[in-house]
Amino acid sequence: MYIHIPFCKQACHYCDFHFSTSLKKKEALIQCLVQELKLRKNELENQNIETIYFGGGTPSLLSCNELDFIIDAAYKYYNIVEHPEITLEANPDDLSDSVIQELAKSRINRLSIGIQSFYESDLKLMNRAHNVKEALKCLDEATKHFDNISVDLIYGIPGLTNAAWIKNIETALAFNVPHISCYALTVEPKTALETFIKKGVIANVDDDLAQEQFNILVDTLEAEGFVNYELSNFGKPEYFSKNNSAYWLGKPYLGIGPSAHSFNGDQRSWNVSNNTKYIKSIQNNTLPNEIETLSKTDKFNEYIMTGLRTVWGVSLEKIENDFGETYKNYLLKQSEIYIQEHLLYIDGNKLLTTKKGKFLSDGIASSLFKINLS
Ligand code: SF4
Repeated sequence: MYIHIPFCKQACHYCDFHFSTSLKKKEALIQCLVQELKLRKNELENQNIETIYFGGGTPSLLSCNELDFIIDAAYKYYNIVEHPEITLEANPDDLSDSVIQELAKSRINRLSIGIQSFYESDLKLMNRAHNVKEALKCLDEATKHFDNISVDLIYGIPGLTNAAWIKNIETALAFNVPHISCYALTVEPKTALETFIKKGVIANVDDDLAQEQFNILVDTLEAEGFVNYELSNFGKPEYFSKNNSAYWLGKPYLGIGPSAHSFNGDQRSWNVSNNTKYIKSIQNNTLPNEIETLSKTDKFNEYIMTGLRTVWGVSLEKIENDFGETYKNYLLKQSEIYIQEHLLYIDGNKLLTTKKGKFLSDGIASSLFKINLS
């Protein structure tokens, strides 16, 4: 279960997620999240919820009582397993010592902390709301109270040298966290970052440097016992995020809140990305969503896309069983060139990306799945 909290203190320059910097509608929105949980209680009938993930936006803008109110509703209307993973995405500026201590007493048992960088210049360039001191202080306190912590870092930031990147990784490692998520800075359309780059205020991102920094990351974290179980996610064994893994393994999920996506195995749906429209619709007991039924080709394409990003790869047996021999042969034929270039390889009955291919997995996947077989 994914719950989207669409509020942030300020807009990070690179971000294209759905959020509002006005908290005026926070109370009404929380009521509507609970109402949506109620309205959709039959969607996952007879299925167990293994993980609840508060993402955003900035979920740590909610108080413990507000988070508790939403978790109560999840327990009221759904079958939650005995020891669910309950994650809160949190920003360092919200995580004072007392908040961390209060969260540690709640049902939230995993924190995903948006550190992004331990350099003031990077944080300023990205317009993050926190500073380095807050980042270090919150990690110091959080690791005293939570065992399951993930740190988010960003690489490929203009001006971030390889040496500085290594220092960022080492600083995160010094806190002994069992999970690290790292993303290449991406210039999304209509973001402030795109405008600044176009105006020459900020240098453009350098894809080759980003790839170098990804390689540094993989080498450094693997040497420390982390598994790069998905392109952007590194976990110690037993600490892979259940929430993230569910997406990559094609499990059904329920997305609550504005802009949240859901998937039931056959259909994908997404809520409106507008807080006012979302609230109005839910208050009228109408789901503000659009639904798409996935074709066989859609499902094949999605499996290739997600499979190639993960350590589990693409199962050729699954392709044959679920999609038929024509799809399997097509995939093998299309993969040949990448296998020759050492970007993909076959291990037993699986198609996987090599270390060199992983950073390029999205591009490789899209060239494998542009098909329309009947
Ligand atoms: S805090 Fe997160 S969701 Fe909010 S603007 Fe920054 S990156 Fe986007």
